[in-house]
Amino acid sequence: SEEKSLNFIEEIIEADLKAGKYTSIVTRFPPEPNGYLHLGHASSICLNFGLTKKYPGYTNLRFDDTNPVTEDTEYVESIKNDIRWMGFEWKHELYASDYFDTLYGYAIQLINKGLAYVDESTSEEIAAMKGTPTEPGTDSPYRNRPVQENLDLFEKMKSGAFPDGSHTLRAKIDMAHMNMLMRDPILYRIKHAHHHRTGDKWCIYPMYDFAHGQSDSIENITHSICTLEFIPHRELYDWLIAQLGIYPSHQYEFARRNINYTVTSKRKLLQLVNEKHVSGWDDPRMPTISGLRRRGYTPESIREFCERIGVAKRENMVDVGLLEFCVREHLNKIALRRMVVFDPLKVVITNYTNGEELLQSEDNPEDPAATHREVPFSSELYIEREDFMENPPKKYFRLAPGQMVRLKSAYIIKCDEVIKDAEGNVTELRCSYIPESKSGADTSGIHVKGTLHWVSVKHAVTVEVREYDRLFQVEDPASEEGDFKSYINPNSLHVIQSAYAEPALRNATFNDRYQFIRKGYFCLDKDTSEEKVIFNRTVTLKDAWAK
Ligand code: ATP
Ligand code: MG
Ligand code: MG
Repeated sequence: SEEKSLNFIEEIIEADLKAGKYTSIVTRFPPEPNGYLHLGHASSICLNFGLTKKYPGYTNLRFDDTNPVTEDTEYVESIKNDIRWMGFEWKHELYASDYFDTLYGYAIQLINKGLAYVDESTSEEIAAMKGTPTEPGTDSPYRNRPVQENLDLFEKMKSGAFPDGSHTLRAKIDMAHMNMLMRDPILYRIKHAHHHRTGDKWCIYPMYDFAHGQSDSIENITHSICTLEFIPHRELYDWLIAQLGIYPSHQYEFARRNINYTVTSKRKLLQLVNEKHVSGWDDPRMPTISGLRRRGYTPESIREFCERIGVAKRENMVDVGLLEFCVREHLNKIALRRMVVFDPLKVVITNYTNGEELLQSEDNPEDPAATHREVPFSSELYIEREDFMENPPKKYFRLAPGQMVRLKSAYIIKCDEVIKDAEGNVTELRCSYIPESKSGADTSGIHVKGTLHWVSVKHAVTVEVREYDRLFQVEDPASEEGDFKSYINPNSLHVIQSAYAEPALRNATFNDRYQFIRKGYFCLDKDTSEEKVIFNRTVTLKDAWAK
């Protein structure tokens, strides 16, 4: 990976360090605590924290909590938990709301410099005065108030003398500016609302543009990285810092990451939760970090995904197949191999008279240090119903009348007789085993092409298996006509109530990952109880969607 070329932000930072502009850098990850983090946030986390792992410096976690209405401490806790799980640690835990006093002071400074005024226009009037991209706006009738009048009115706004929406504080820049955002932008609005941290202390709240850049500056952020839609905001960001004469943070923009067959917008994800299309923010089908964690994704696989999609300057849709590829690669290295039969067909080994024995099976053939486990074998086994065919085509290497297969880590067996019920359904297979064909000590000289997974009937543990598919039927539900929720895949969850697992899975842990041989990668679900062991399918063994 040393050979990898730098992304454009790394190029900027290396140039800055080389030029001596900085000796170390400071970045921040600034979530608004109004929802759980999703894959888009993961890419921003990997970028911001990744830069200060690579270069001297540190990253702050700053909660961008300037909107009292939608924010909640439940979200604050989940965000911290998710970042740590991703493998990153912040230097300082900060809240934009802690800067409310400082920001208020900055507003007073601007008023004193004749660069801000209190406007009594309604939001409709302000919008009408904005002009258009091709026509200049018009000055507000309140634009030229004397400084003292602005100071008095702003103080009254703060002390609660006015109702919501009646007054705003606006920067006095230029109503004919080419950049619409520079046409006297609103800095403060009145909102009589309880804030999750400042309580009822404030009834005026700073707008994003007034809070974000100033917070960056207060924290001496060197490189403030945000998504492309903030490009037009950069001019205002720089203007405010220059007028206030505070630490010059710089804003850089990269492309928002969108993943196909899902939505990455907290607002939309919240709708899925509230309207019960999913079981919660951590439903294993959700593109949230908590959903992916519950689904069995590893932090390594998500970091690898973010690394591979890299940092772009143009928006594009990322294929969820790449995420699945990354988790498959990692799970193949770490997952413990286990045998689970989903749809059982009974096999009776008629010549097996030893009662039972314990066979050795490797936990992971990909891991040179791998251990072995014991798997009980007996004369009554389950195999997968789909691994038997009464009238097989040529080159069918699974079980069929008169045909042989190997049972994984056990023996070669031959199907001698097919037992059926009155309706003609196959209910049982009578087989014989080759005693000299034991795995690891095979002297039989028989070569078979098929190897099947199996479990011993009397040792089997009944488990529930939850298989997941894409949450949406279309690539980009947010851009389709109508409600994005009408594109939800009705078959995104498939539950197998009773699957039969080898006994080692009775002791499955939340830390371990499992490969159910020939089935896919699985992890224990948090709904597991004394009564019921439940597994989630993280991902199939191969890409079923590949063309
Ligand atoms: P949402 O639209 O889901 O609410 P947001 O951008 O409003 O997302 P914030 O909590 O403000 O969410 O985001 C915190 C940080 O994560 C910001 O710096 C933002 O740029 C970044 N971020 C959010 N979504 C994405 C995305 N899809 N791709 C890349 N970065 C993102
Ligand atoms: Mg936001
Ligand atoms: Mg948003």
